[in-house]
This record gives sequence, structure tokens and C-alpha cells, in this order.
Amino acid sequence: MLRMICRSCLRLWEADRVHNRTSCPRCGGALTFRTAIEVGHIFKLGTFYSVPFDATYLDEQSIEHPIQMGSYGIGPGRVLAAIVEQGHDDRGIVWPPSVAPYDAHVIARFDQAGAVNLGKANMDEFAMGSSSETSWFGAVRNPWDTTRVPGGSSGGSAAAVAARLAPGATGTDTGGSIRQPCAMCGVSGLKPTYGVVSRYGLIAFASSLDQAGPMAKSAHDLALMLNVMAGFDPRDSTSLERAAEDYARDLERPLRGLRIGLPKEFFVAGLHGDVARAIDAAIAEYRRLGATTVEVSLPNMALSIPVYYVLASAEASSNLARYDGVRYGFRTREYADLGEMYERTRAEGFGAEVRRRIMIGTYVLSHGYYDAYYLKAQKIRRLIAGDFASAFSCCDVIAGPTSPTTAFAIGSRMADPVQMYLSDFYTIAINLAGLPGMSIPAGFDAAGLPIGIQLIGDYFAEARLLNVAHQFQRATDWHARAPAMAREPQDRAREAK
Ligand code: GLN
Repeated sequence: MLRMICRSCLRLWEADRVHNRTSCPRCGGALTFRTAIEVGHIFKLGTFYSVPFDATYLDEQSIEHPIQMGSYGIGPGRVLAAIVEQGHDDRGIVWPPSVAPYDAHVIARFDQAGAVNLGKANMDEFAMGSSSETSWFGAVRNPWDTTRVPGGSSGGSAAAVAARLAPGATGTDTGGSIRQPCAMCGVSGLKPTYGVVSRYGLIAFASSLDQAGPMAKSAHDLALMLNVMAGFDPRDSTSLERAAEDYARDLERPLRGLRIGLPKEFFVAGLHGDVARAIDAAIAEYRRLGATTVEVSLPNMALSIPVYYVLASAEASSNLARYDGVRYGFRTREYADLGEMYERTRAEGFGAEVRRRIMIGTYVLSHGYYDAYYLKAQKIRRLIAGDFASAFSCCDVIAGPTSPTTAFAIGSRMADPVQMYLSDFYTIAINLAGLPGMSIPAGFDAAGLPIGIQLIGDYFAEARLLNVAHQFQRATDWHARAPAMAREPQDRAREAK
């Protein structure tokens, strides 16, 4: 999984434990483990924005010593090298070369499990976005077609896994930011039930929705990563105190008798034809595996985007109040008095999308509008959760598209925020309800861009979801396909013939 680079001819090779390669099979040059960052730079993917320590120079010992993903046949509970989406690229906080003063809970867990941190993944500013274009460090590119976005906001993580720069990565999902980029990059991702993974050390965007989760090549790898990430943490007041689970325990369970709910509101105008066809084909595969399908209804689904943009913006405006030039982060250089210092700091320090959210949030929370917007949205949020509860009374999992379209062109939606917000039509309701959801690869569109199928479970049904995903991945090979840049040069040459 780790890529090795020949220092002489810059060819890429899989780090190969079996043959213990140290020199380039082509030119004999020395191979180094300068992995993810360097490869990302070569392909101009914009996947990373900083390296935590000397992880770019992994030596022989680090590859021999720990932990390879389960797909490499080494025991569960040992996970290699998560790329961590640690901290956000807000202009004041992690302007390079600043270093986070402490580790997030998730980061500490991976450390304890022996994982190697390869770097910080690029992402939308404060996780606000669906395309990873609003980063202060520049847009991330989709490894399947570098003129396209990787999705967002955890686009650097998804692109890094898709390009095989890392076997796994973390992301956060407030309204779809794990699932949607996974769909657009052809990798697998899981947003756990709200409260299963500690938010300690994450920069808060919308606290009642934010949840961290794993992104990897397969459901099997996600299960191993979730085993590391999940668990009670007293430092997060919304962390749930539950008995530890082995999320891989049900992977091999047959799907006979599984009831899949298909919400009629999912299959509507706006869903791209190629995506609809891929989802139909995936459902047909599930039927072959023994599942039955049942139509369900989520009548308030269409309200989820407006409700989300009221609630998430309200919470963001409150969370981001702390970036005032005094307590945290960036401070403007020139100002005449305190008022001007605040104003200029916040105007210069935040990007356009973040400023838009702060203004919407401040507005919906203001005296006179609070009842009409914020309170109303809270009530509809409750209805949306209720819709899912009724749906789960007649099915075990819900399936549908993750994203209405495949990866769109860089720049194509930046001028139209509403169009951008619609990218999350299928994912946002799940966050509002606090449910677990996944996206796994389920095909390609006519242009060869990946399509994801979304699987939604009832509260704490992560093990079941992973089972449903894993069985699909045993029967299909969509998840095993990699973009050309991630394949060995000799494979690419063979394909070209
Ligand atoms: N695209 C959504 C937003 O911009 C969701 C982002 C997320 O999940 N972090 O708010």
C-alpha cells in the first residue's frame, strides 16, 4: 500500500514486503518511502497540506514493524497509517507551519494502535463545502480525472485513499463530507452514529451534527479502523458510554433475509441517469445475494437541505465566534481600535463560504427570527428523525445514491452556492437524524467516474452496515478498481497496449 519512489526515474512502486524491494526494478535507483506527500505533489493532487513530523521519511523499520491493513492479511486491530484530517485549514489556526498543541482523541487512538500518520489531508475551509475547493491551500483534485473535484469537504482524504497514497484516512461528516467524497473518488467511507466517535480535538463546525469516521478501500478496512476510533471519551460531552464492540464481527454473515428499504423520495428528477442505473444494478446484486426490497417513505426528505443550512449555520456562527483575533488564531496586522481589529480579523481571516455561513447563522439566531427559523428547523429535524424511525420498522437498512451526480468540474459550482448545497441532497438527512451511513463504490458513469451507493442503518447498526457492504464487496470488484495514476507503471503500459 505504501508507495515507494525511485529517486532517479521517479517511477512509483508498491512497497513490497515480500520481495523487500530497495532498488528500482527499472533503473536500479534507490527507492525511498517518501510516500504520500511526494506522490501527491508529483500528480498535483493537492491532497495534503502538511506533514506532521518525519513521516515522509519512513524507513525500512517502519514498514517491517507494524501494522498493515487487514486486506494485506495481517491481523485485525492493526491498522496502518491513517491520513488524518486533523484540524481545519482556517486561515488563522493551522497556517503552516503551525502545529496542533494536542492530539484529537481519534489521532491518539491511531497512535496507540501503532498507525503511522502520513500527513494532514486538505479539505474545505472549516469543513464547509462539497467539493474541497474552498481550502486556503487550494483545491484538491480527483485522482480519476484531475479536472474534477474529489467531492468534499473531506476531499483530500478521499483522494489520497483513491490514489492509493494511504490505506486509510479519517474524515468528518456534518452533512455528507465522508460519504460524498468517497462516492466521487470510488472509495468506501462510514459516518458512525452521532456520539460513537469522540469529537475531542476536532475543530467544531456544527457540533450537533459533526462526526468523525474512517475512509478506506473496503468495508473490511473500515471495520478495523472503526475498532480503533470508536469508544467512550469523557472529554466529549456527547460521547456515548457503551460497551466496546468488534465492528468486524458480522462481516461474513450471509445476507439472506436482509430487508432493504428504498425511499421513494430518493429516485426523483435530479438524479443522474448513470447514477440511477448503477444503484439499480447494485440493488439487483443485493437481491441475488438473498436480500428483499421494500419501498419506504421519508416524506420530509426535501426539507433536509433548508433545515440543515439553518441549523448548521447557526451552530457554526456560534462556534466560530471564538476566532476573534484575541483568543485564537489569526489577527489582522493593521487596525486603529478594538472594534476595527475584530472586524478586519474576521473579514480577512475567513473565506467567502465561511463568512456566508456566519451571516446566515447570526441572522437565524437573532431576536425576532429565532422562532421563525431556528426553532422551526429544530422541529422539522425531529420529524425527519421520525421518518427514519418509521422506515426502519419495516426494513433493516436503507439504500440509495450517495450523490445525485458524479464528480463535477473544478470551478463549475463555485459561483452558485445553492447548486453546491444540492450535492448533499442524499446525505444530509442522515446527519440530522444522527444515524450511521456509508458509501461504497458501485460502478462508473459513461465518463469513467466512480459512483457510490449509500447504505443507511438504524442507530448503532454500524456492524450490520459493514456486513451489508462487505458482502457486496465480496460479490463485486468496484471497490478494487483504482485510477490509472495509482497503478504500477507496468500495469498502465499493459493496459495501454
Ligand atoms: N457540504 C455540507 C456543508 O457544506 C456538508 C459538509 C460536511 O459534512 N462537513 O455544510
